[in-house]
Amino acid sequence: MNAPHQARKRFGQNFLTDAQVIGRIVDAVAPQAGECLVEIGPGLGALTDPLVARLGHLHVVEIDRDLIARLKQRYGPDRLTIHEGDALDFDFSRLGVPLRVVGNLPYNISTPLLFHLAEFADGVRNMTFMLQKEVVMRMVAEPGSADYGRLSVMLQYRFRMGRLFDVPPEAFRPAPKVTSSIVRMVPRPPQDRTAQDEALLAQIVTAAFGQRRKTLRNTLREFLREEDFAALKLDPGLRGERLTVADFVAIANHCGARQGK
Ligand code: SAM
Repeated sequence: MNAPHQARKRFGQNFLTDAQVIGRIVDAVAPQAGECLVEIGPGLGALTDPLVARLGHLHVVEIDRDLIARLKQRYGPDRLTIHEGDALDFDFSRLGVPLRVVGNLPYNISTPLLFHLAEFADGVRNMTFMLQKEVVMRMVAEPGSADYGRLSVMLQYRFRMGRLFDVPPEAFRPAPKVTSSIVRMVPRPPQDRTAQDEALLAQIVTAAFGQRRKTLRNTLREFLREEDFAALKLDPGLRGERLTVADFVAIANHCGARQGK
């Protein structure tokens, strides 16, 4: 019998203990036998157990060696392939396509992890995550809302996203301070991603939201002159939070075409 695991704050460890919530999340994932699925941060196995039961085999990426040792005791390699290490460096394209990704993600690295995962969107069928509700609200935010920003634009460019349901702090041990939400992310097909230069799009979006209270005339000074605003039919007196994802793509493509001349 193992001694109880001491939750490690530095690894964002809040373990799900509410059986009803666990069942609801697994039902939302709806794993089908034979699918290629990876769980990020299996922890003590709250989601891992029902996922392995339904799938037959599961990949997991886990950083905590103590938890890895427990997982190895519980499952043979025929049922669980354990990738030991940091999910932020993990090459998800190694696992097969189409890949499904799930996880009760460590909240302390959620934004960089979402950006890392976005790199693998082309090989992914969908992703279902639990995150802080506040982060999920930013991911799905619409233009004009206070939550709308760089995370919303860059993720909505690559994924269709929907918030499925909320999970209260009492569903975890130790209980986090905040409410969590389940979000589903479905990659958009490559033909819908019309930015010619995605790195330029990212630079423009970062600049537009860098100083939220400033107008586009100021924040995009480096990218757009007055005549560019006119050509794009864009009011330079607006703030970045008013622009849709399509507006940002149009700006990036306009800048890219001008630079190419
Ligand atoms: N899935 C379990 C559950 O729902 O109870 C645990 C979720 S806990 C919020 C986050 C898990 O991610 C922990 O197991 C933690 O050790 C792991 N983790 C934290 N940082 C990680 C990283 N950079 N790469 C891989 N796993 C990580």
